[in-house]
Amino acid sequence: NKFKEGLTKTRNVFVDRVDDLFSRRKKIDEEFYEELEEILIGADVGVSTVMELIEQLRSEVRKRKIEDPNDLQPVLSEKLTELLKGSEDSSIKLAPGGLSIILFVGVNGVGKTTTIGKMAHMYKSQGKKVILAAGDTFRAGAIEQLETWGQRVGVDVIKQQAGSDPAAVMFDAVQAAKNRGADILLCDTAGRLQNKVNLMEELNKIYRVIRREVPDAPHEVLLVLDATTGQNALQQAKMFGDKTGLTGLVLTKLDGTAKGGIVVAIRQELNIPVKFVGLGEKMDDLQPFDSEQFVHALFG
Ligand code: GDP
Repeated sequence: NKFKEGLTKTRNVFVDRVDDLFSRRKKIDEEFYEELEEILIGADVGVSTVMELIEQLRSEVRKRKIEDPNDLQPVLSEKLTELLKGSEDSSIKLAPGGLSIILFVGVNGVGKTTTIGKMAHMYKSQGKKVILAAGDTFRAGAIEQLETWGQRVGVDVIKQQAGSDPAAVMFDAVQAAKNRGADILLCDTAGRLQNKVNLMEELNKIYRVIRREVPDAPHEVLLVLDATTGQNALQQAKMFGDKTGLTGLVLTKLDGTAKGGIVVAIRQELNIPVKFVGLGEKMDDLQPFDSEQFVHALFG
């Protein structure tokens, strides 16, 4: 299964350390908790979440009168699953009929274009007509890169030349999507960080143009985050958070990190659901996020 394969690094480091701790220690004492705390923080679970988790484990140990560390393993899995469960579900909201528009935001290099390509492939496989909008007109290579994905997946890309107004590209893209009877329009945006204020203004303008053309759109605004950047990813989410109307997160490159605990930190510290995770560079290396499957892939 995809999750299991993609989480190999996290399993090999984090889970192996947990397994080793649980089998090596004979007693659940202060040293045991300290070591577990260190392992969890090392996996990027996030300090405040780790503290909460340890408190919950202590209380379960008392309540269930657990003495053998091995018996605590299923409790840890259970608690991690609970922490990962969101109040909102992770499905992508699409228009009940007609055109759905999904806007992708995030800084350069996090895997935005790749995620758009993967999602185009996913929706196309479901028989939907997909169009891509090359809204990152700032970075010369970005348009070409999106076109390459368009060719690979076999979907149209709406673009203008580099340097043009991204809001104008979006306007064109929405018209094209309507005229061609598309079901889904996936919109790339710029991710330059040099000028945050300008970037946020640009994203707002794009948002307004889309909304003017399709009143309930964008149906989703997905922030793409790179799991290998750990706590930095959290900072990025906070930066984009209140300014762009985020509805969900995509966490990429989970296959590239041994610190998969970042998913737990993100779930706990941000009030935005993780909708998809990236588990590799290929077209089908994208999975809808599911907390039970995730924990099962780790410990199961
Ligand atoms: P963008 O600048 O945000 O559009 O980022 P790109 O889509 O160009 O991705 C940057 C790099 O990350 C590329 O080399 C991608 O192949 C790679 N990448 C994207 N998603 C994943 C993933 O889930 N796993 C791995 N291992 N690499 C990824």
